[in-house]
Amino acid sequence: MLENSPKQENTPKTGNKRYYYRKKYYQKNRNREDRPSQNIIKVNCKKVSILIPLLNEEESLKPLYAEIVKVIKTINCDYEIIFVDDGSTDKSLEIIKDIAKTDNKVKYISFKKNYGKSAALHFGFKYVTGDSVITMDADLQDDPEEIPNLLLKLDEGFDMVSGWKKLRFDPFIKKYSSRFFNYVTGVMSGIKIHDFNCGLKAYRKPVIENINVYGELHRYIPVLADWKGFLVTEIVVKHHPRRYGKTKFGISRFFKGFVDLITVLFTTRYIRRPMHLFGFLGFFTSLLGFVISGYLTYEKVFFDKPLSNRPLLFLGMLLIIVGVQFFAVGLLGEIMVHNFRNDEEFVIKDKK
Ligand code: UDP
Ligand code: MG
Repeated sequence: MLENSPKQENTPKTGNKRYYYRKKYYQKNRNREDRPSQNIIKVNCKKVSILIPLLNEEESLKPLYAEIVKVIKTINCDYEIIFVDDGSTDKSLEIIKDIAKTDNKVKYISFKKNYGKSAALHFGFKYVTGDSVITMDADLQDDPEEIPNLLLKLDEGFDMVSGWKKLRFDPFIKKYSSRFFNYVTGVMSGIKIHDFNCGLKAYRKPVIENINVYGELHRYIPVLADWKGFLVTEIVVKHHPRRYGKTKFGISRFFKGFVDLITVLFTTRYIRRPMHLFGFLGFFTSLLGFVISGYLTYEKVFFDKPLSNRPLLFLGMLLIIVGVQFFAVGLLGEIMVHNFRNDEEFVIKDKK
């Protein structure tokens, strides 16, 4: 009907102008429903790899996959989805295999046993072929709708974008302990972001090629990237409550998180100059010990005060011994750094 009135088409009257143009648009686009040309988001990326570490997340995988595909089709770049099955004992692997059969953009790696999220990310990073990489959790807590936003933020010139779950749906204790960890990590590392351990992150390829995520250091990836000289930033991302199953990290996460913070700070800031840390600690500890011992000696020599029954004597001696030990550890560290220098630590920006 609409196409069969060409005369009317040529003379749009003021009243039906809007109708006329809409009709034109409809005629032009009626066969293009599968190409949402209007909503294509342009990003500066040829191929994005979506990397998903997972452990026993059977219920979430299909909805997650469907959601990712829906979102990713609105971006003007090629993609791949890589599931890293971290030794699941439920039906996760079967489900991933089913998905991979129907979609050749889906790949998977399956570990023989549970090696941990850091291992899953580390191995996945080796496997990706995209020039940009997005990591996200498999439990539907991270929202795939954020994928374009992360990529657009990378386009502003950042090497890594970390999600910030500003409005967070996690148990009370986890929410607040994590806030404390994030605060301490921010102060100690000097990186101004609010949420270091968000599963949703975007990276340019060189970042993942140059960081070493082992143990449980996935909590501190922004620190590792920043240390290598990459530009790190954050955007606020949507977060959802866990829909199925339960968290894979128990109460031990608090202790491990704390120990890992020390590891990460030491292996980034002081790894090439251990004496700066231990020498500093040693100097002040033994200085305090010497001051205390000097004071006791002064009293003994000039006022003949007995040294027995003076707990301060033990404190002074202890501080001197501990201070010397700090020094010794620092020196040993320096010897090791001297012998095992590793040029892979440096990221080269350019050379001729
Ligand atoms: N995960 C993993 N290996 C593990 C533990 C967790 O691959 O050893 C995955 C898990 O399946 C999820 C993501 O890492 O996709 C985050 O885990 P979880 O949701 O349990 O952590 P939370 O959100 O409680 O911090
Ligand atoms: Mg989760």
